[in-house]
Amino acid sequence: MIPTPFKPPALQDTTASVVECILASHDNEVYVDGEVCFLTKDELNIRTHNTARMLKIILQDKTEQYDISRYFWERHLHVDPLTRPRSHPKFILDAEYSATPEEEIHHPEIWKRQLDMLRSVLVHEQLHLFVGPLNRRINPRLTSLVWKLKMISPLREIPIPKILIERVGEQRARAATDLHIVVNWLELQANKRFMGTLSQAQDLITSVAVYQDIYQAVIEADVAIAEIFRQPEYRDYLLEHP
Ligand SMILES: [Zn+2]
Repeated sequence: MIPTPFKPPALQDTTASVVECILASHDNEVYVDGEVCFLTKDELNIRTHNTARMLKIILQDKTEQYDISRYFWERHLHVDPLTRPRSHPKFILDAEYSATPEEEIHHPEIWKRQLDMLRSVLVHEQLHLFVGPLNRRINPRLTSLVWKLKMISPLREIPIPKILIERVGEQRARAATDLHIVVNWLELQANKRFMGTLSQAQDLITSVAVYQDIYQAVIEADVAIAEIFRQPEYRDYLLEHP
């Protein structure tokens, strides 16, 4: 029998969340994880504020379709235009998805797309806190879930994304790829709920700039993955309301 580790319940209350902006402080060329970013400091800071504004709108949306409270474990959110999204040690989103108040009024299709993308990346990073690290000793149930998922053919041979090798090193990148099978599939399920249809959710996550091989594989294996998640020992990973 696999021991069941404690799964933290979602915070539910998203309205009291803190959204802090970390503003770009350099005037000249700005580097984002080693790449030159061709936005001025002022442009970056405007994007940052707009992203923070969008986050507040997402967090305050309590309509049944868009309520993210079941995917919410960290309320101290930061926006930093000079980094990539991460869940720990500090929860940080970048300013990649950013629409202006003018776009909200005059270009609702741009506004909605940016909002949907930002919600997806917010949920992705929050899901990392729920799922936890892929470590056999401290998370044996997750390890067994991943082991079962990797019997499904498109999940067995996913190439390791370059971004993971850069981030965690070659040795840990395979485990990080495997972990993202779980996180990215749960992100797909969350987007199905938000967007209303599977095809809209697929369309959204296939335009994310990173992890495309993983997203494609979980889309292809969606039904088979769902079957494994529905097994009694993994069911609570589905985050369904009783
Ligand atoms: Zn991730």
